[in-house]
Amino acid sequence: MPADPPQGLRPETLAVSHGYDPAMGMGAVKPPIFMTSTFVYPSAQAAKDVHEAFFEGTGPAVGATNHIYARLGHPGLDMLEARLAAIDGAEAAAAFCSGMAAHSTIALAHVRPGDSVLHGRPIYGGVDMLYNRFLPQFGAHAVAYLDGTDDAGVRSAAEAALAKGPLALIIAESPANPTAAIVDLALMVRIADEVGSRTGRRPLVVVDNTLLGPFAQRPIEHDVDLCMTSLTKYCGGHSDLLAGGITGAKTLVDPLRQLRTTLGNHLDPHTSWLLMRSLESVHVRTERAMSNARAVADYLRDHPKVAGVTYLGHLAEGSRQRAVYDRQCKAAGSTFSFHLHGGEDEAFRMLDCLRLMKMAVSLGGSETLICHSASTTHYAVAPEQRLAGGITDGTIRLSVGIEHVDDLIADLGQALDAV
Ligand SMILES: *Cc1c(COP(=O)(O)O)cnc(C)c1O
Repeated sequence: MPADPPQGLRPETLAVSHGYDPAMGMGAVKPPIFMTSTFVYPSAQAAKDVHEAFFEGTGPAVGATNHIYARLGHPGLDMLEARLAAIDGAEAAAAFCSGMAAHSTIALAHVRPGDSVLHGRPIYGGVDMLYNRFLPQFGAHAVAYLDGTDDAGVRSAAEAALAKGPLALIIAESPANPTAAIVDLALMVRIADEVGSRTGRRPLVVVDNTLLGPFAQRPIEHDVDLCMTSLTKYCGGHSDLLAGGITGAKTLVDPLRQLRTTLGNHLDPHTSWLLMRSLESVHVRTERAMSNARAVADYLRDHPKVAGVTYLGHLAEGSRQRAVYDRQCKAAGSTFSFHLHGGEDEAFRMLDCLRLMKMAVSLGGSETLICHSASTTHYAVAPEQRLAGGITDGTIRLSVGIEHVDDLIADLGQALDAV
């Protein structure tokens, strides 16, 4: 459920300074970094009270001046989490030391032996490993749907999951990595509600919003339960940090913060500060990256050596995917894939000729990054599952940055000439 925006302000405004009051930092316009692992108790009774607050949920709230030890929480986390929640339009947020730390914490909080999980395919490789290799060791099951806009297909995958055990989570990575395949969030919420009223246990709908980021898609407004974002990508935006965020209702986020204390996967003070700095400009960076991406995607679509482009802005008018996109997304993002005619040989030849674009995994940085999906990000995914998810041996993922678009197109052009 969306929360009212603080002071009625828009996300772009909240991104700049929400969560920090200069009175907290001796008047400094920007927040200080509290590089400390532990916090002084003002008195023995205050120490007892603050522990009671943390463990029993009673007494004075933990946070602000009531910190205990940085793994449990610290001022940088409080500020960052207030800002993340405000930007996403959510009641609460929790920040973790990576996107995968956020995903694993959700999994360990909600999935029990015998439970099942429903997710889309393709999906981020790390999430695939989590649900298909790691959690099955504890007796959990995962079932995938292939088209997240196909009502009948998703429902039959949900039935297959329920046949294996109670459905704990519905994971929707939308758009999905690397093909930008879209998932209908309203459909996921409907299915969760139906499963809940039928079985007495309603699965949580978890959306991975990493590929579009908070300014191009606002999952909490679509009534999903938890919105997960790898802050490493667009929010960090400079390929120089790792972090993950989860937003949602306080009743769902608080237990994840508690579990974070046990798992020890909180975000440290320095990275929390770096992220607050990055969040100030994420909307401006994504706007520029998205306008570049449109031009690059149009160029690739018309290139004779390119077999197809999976750019969201190209979804056919009148298609089911386009209807979901129009309902759910504010913009098309700047990460997509294109498929070369041919396979690995052609892809490798092209990649090795690039001069400006950097060949690396990850996305959402200021620089353009490019990589061959099958041999890198999706290396560990079985070939038939890769193909089912639309990843061929000629598929190349592109995360378009904020450079001058003419330089980007010239670089792609000379590399494609060499294929
Ligand atoms: C990168 C990514 C993750 C994992 O985030 P890390 O910060 O690298 O741990 C999860 N989901 C998607 C869609 C991603 O692109």
